[in-house]
Amino acid sequence: SKKGGRNQLSFFDPSMQQSVIKRATLDAELHRALERQEFRLHYQIQVDAWRQPIGAEALIRWYHPELGTVSPAEFIPLAEETGLILPIGQWVLKTACQQLQAWQDKPHTRNLVLAVNISAKQIRQKNFSTMVLALLEKYQVTPHLLKLEITESVLLDDVEDTIKTMLSLNSIGIRFSMDDFGAGYSSLQYLKRLPLEQLKIDRSFVQDLENNSSDRTIVRTIITMAQSLNIDVIAEGVENEAQRELLQNKGCIHYQGYLFGKPVDIEQFNRFLE
Ligand code: C2E
Ligand code: CA
Ligand code: CA
Ligand code: CA
Repeated sequence: SKKGGRNQLSFFDPSMQQSVIKRATLDAELHRALERQEFRLHYQIQVDAWRQPIGAEALIRWYHPELGTVSPAEFIPLAEETGLILPIGQWVLKTACQQLQAWQDKPHTRNLVLAVNISAKQIRQKNFSTMVLALLEKYQVTPHLLKLEITESVLLDDVEDTIKTMLSLNSIGIRFSMDDFGAGYSSLQYLKRLPLEQLKIDRSFVQDLENNSSDRTIVRTIITMAQSLNIDVIAEGVENEAQRELLQNKGCIHYQGYLFGKPVDIEQFNRFLE
């Protein structure tokens, strides 16, 4: 509202006040969420051109007894600011490794690759690779079944250290995927120095693929570039057959999106695979 005139940004802007309160509440609640075991992982299937499952992405969910389900889009950025992303991220990795251990024991799930989202702050931790290795060892997980999804934001600070961490993890077989590719700060200069197995085309380029010719050009360019760098491509947010077909015609044969399955809890996911 303009009522405040020059004092528009006063504390009395009701909408702003509400968001400050909400933030403070969220932050306090987020601190307790780990001890209260309010987090869960959901799993979204990734498929190949024959719609065969090749893996899944782990996506965190927060079930708060009073606030209800809080979207990761809401609490992950806050957790990144406050540093809580470190213990949360550790919990996600541990839970993912436990899941991989369980899948490894069954013939129809033993080859599934699990992709885990890693925040820039997490990968910059001094002991990040040691921590990941310890988890793989503890749960007896083959390293090549774990894929770490990073975003272009890792290129903003301490790039050299991040590259070292990635190279050391990659040398033991852990794979990396560049998430939300094309949506953020891209530097093709760095791209060639990172041990990337995969680029994930951002949903923003996929959602309008049928109608938007610039999106089609961008997608084709990403795929061509990835192919020449020998990097795999997966598209996220694939919701319909027309999008899938356009992607396939351009050479992208790995997909993730509602067309194949929404993120679901582990019971539903395992049932779906049977
Ligand atoms: P993201 O990594 O880009 O994950 C993909 C998001 O797109 C997920 O939202 C997923 O549910 C949604 N999605 C998948 N397929 C479709 C589709 O066909 N159509 C549409 N409209 N959406 C689709 P979600 O689960 O709400 O996660 C939001 C973001 O939160 C993630 O984006 C990621 O950046 C972050 N996040 C989630 N889990 C974690 C985690 O464990 N650690 C970290 N650091 N970040 C996480
Ligand atoms: Ca992701
Ligand atoms: Ca993504
Ligand atoms: Ca995205």
